[in-house]
Amino acid sequence: MAVIESYRNVRVIAKKTLALIEEQGIQPTPHNYAIWFEYLQETNPDLTRALNQLLAKNGKYSENMGVELFKLFFTRDKEGQVVQETNHMVQKSMDNVMGDLKRTTADFSSYGKQLNDFALKAEGMNGQDLQDIISEIVSQTNSMSDNTSSLHKGLDGASREIAELKRRLQYVQREAYTDALTGIPNRKSFDAVLSKEIATARENQSSLCLLMADIDHFKQFNDLHGHTFGDQVIKLVASTLAKGIEKNALAARYGGEEFSVILPATDLADAVNLANDLRMAIAAKRLIQRSTKKDVGKITMSFGVTAYALSEGPTAFINRADQALYIAKNSGRNCVKHLQSSINL
Ligand code: GH3
Ligand code: MG
Ligand code: MG
Repeated sequence: MAVIESYRNVRVIAKKTLALIEEQGIQPTPHNYAIWFEYLQETNPDLTRALNQLLAKNGKYSENMGVELFKLFFTRDKEGQVVQETNHMVQKSMDNVMGDLKRTTADFSSYGKQLNDFALKAEGMNGQDLQDIISEIVSQTNSMSDNTSSLHKGLDGASREIAELKRRLQYVQREAYTDALTGIPNRKSFDAVLSKEIATARENQSSLCLLMADIDHFKQFNDLHGHTFGDQVIKLVASTLAKGIEKNALAARYGGEEFSVILPATDLADAVNLANDLRMAIAAKRLIQRSTKKDVGKITMSFGVTAYALSEGPTAFINRADQALYIAKNSGRNCVKHLQSSINL
């Protein structure tokens, strides 16, 4: 049911989008279609805001605005490629639908005129003539109904393709923010979430903590047990971190064998406690080499923790967590160290 419902919604919005494009005299390109579809669907607040601002400033939608908005909201690196491909597909069905729409509108007005003529002629006609006229009306009505049903089919096709475009976009977007080895969020995702959480902490004056963690003596581990087993260990660390945090937190692979955890609405003492829980959960895992079934002992991790100091940027924040991690390494590893910002004190 939910699928049918959302499909219906897409159809309704697809129709509204086409109507708006036609009404405002906007060029029926896939770019414009994608922008206005997203706008009417109200699922992308950033796009809605940007378009409203441009409309307020310039009064009317223009091709330049379309190009800018599309660049901003629909083409990002690899996503751009998929959009291009799918655009081609959507363009074709758009052309068909626009053609059908124009034809049907024209047919409707001539049909209306014909009905009028019939009504005028019908006055004072005898039975046979009336019957002839009625069969004529029936045949005209049938052909109108064929036209509208082909328009509906066209709209259905366009809606399906747009839904497919959205699905593919979501997929590449998800992929672009996920680390291929571990399946947890990658550095790109970390950067994006950290910026967002910093903005939230500033706005609400709320606390925000950051953990940086690095596997101890991992080079040696790789040398002893091989890179492939090393990769398995990285996966195990990633899943242990991901499982050990709350829903509103983010554990990401920062790079190589380094991980980071963003903890919104968390004070330093709680962040240090959580880091210790994670550290112990990792140290408690026995590592069994699958191929040889050999127990190769365990690995440990060092953690650096810090709290966000209002007004600082992400770099200062990350550097301080890194410094705390460095202190943990120099204090014998397998431990958690924290640093407070001098601004906070
Ligand atoms: P330390 O306790 O000081 O962190 O010692 P370390 O040996 O872990 O030193 P460092 O963090 O500088 O070394 C990182 C090592 O991690 C080097 C590299 O071989 C290994 N590594 C980085 N990325 C990967 C990966 O994706 N897979 C595997 N198997 N190893 C990796
Ligand atoms: Mg390292
Ligand atoms: Mg290391």
